[in-house]
Amino acid sequence: MKRALAAILGLNLLGPSLAAMEVRFEGEGCPLPTNVVQTVTAELSRLVLADRALFQRLPAPDFEIAYHIHLDREQYRVRAKATGNAYEGVAGFTQTEQRWQLQPTRRLISVDTRVETWREQRTNELLAVLLHESAHAVTAAFVGRTPLWFNEGSAELLGTPAAARFKFRRQDESQRWRTLATLLEKGELPPLRTFLAAPSYAEWDRLFGGDRSCAYTASYSLFYFFSAQPAAFRFLVAWLDSRPMDDAEDLNGAFVDYLDQHWPGGLAIFKVQWHAWIKARATATRPHSNTPGGPGRR
Ligand SMILES: [Zn+2]
Repeated sequence: MKRALAAILGLNLLGPSLAAMEVRFEGEGCPLPTNVVQTVTAELSRLVLADRALFQRLPAPDFEIAYHIHLDREQYRVRAKATGNAYEGVAGFTQTEQRWQLQPTRRLISVDTRVETWREQRTNELLAVLLHESAHAVTAAFVGRTPLWFNEGSAELLGTPAAARFKFRRQDESQRWRTLATLLEKGELPPLRTFLAAPSYAEWDRLFGGDRSCAYTASYSLFYFFSAQPAAFRFLVAWLDSRPMDDAEDLNGAFVDYLDQHWPGGLAIFKVQWHAWIKARATATRPHSNTPGGPGRR
């Protein structure tokens, strides 16, 4: 495909001894407005620093991101369809190629990521998609393969909320927790094992009665649950580095099995703790709450 190259940016984020990340903007929807390119570039720096602090490691030394911007929605839709049904109905998608070194220790050597979307004219919507996909790209450079809930949960937490996807409104943190607390109260959260093992967006749609945004919110809360608690996050990272994860063809199922076998008390206790976390966060982030000693704002 003929490449309409808009920009190549070498981001030297990681110190002089490490290779820079290469970022390209290409496709018929380029050039993008300067402020969009600047925002994405700045957010990439932030995401790399956030992932580095969270995962306590360096990204793959060879790390490239190509943002392929299609001219219009129709051109993008044809392309999304050609990549398989997984990306139909979403505003952007990310595909990565990873190369691993296996000896003497297993580590990521290179990650090439291709982000695709179209030249949405509303800048906020375009940015929301680009930043969500950027979060996927950066996390892939740090940890490689991840289960679906982890993939979307980390992008929802670390990237900007994906306002433009599925036409759902931007949710702030308190809305997210209230949504989950309501689902919990009504008994409408799907069984945790089934949700964590879900391999596809189609399965998410089925589990949440067609409202895929709820699956993103549940994933966000699970990633939040782990990342806000150091011991829990160490547990998650230990699994990412483990043999069962390496050997697994079905990553989603493998993670549920690992959680059930290694979490103190198994999946049943994990579920109790996650539900308690949802209720506590919904209360703590509730607007207008009359918390004693709180800021007292309306
Ligand atoms: Zn995503």
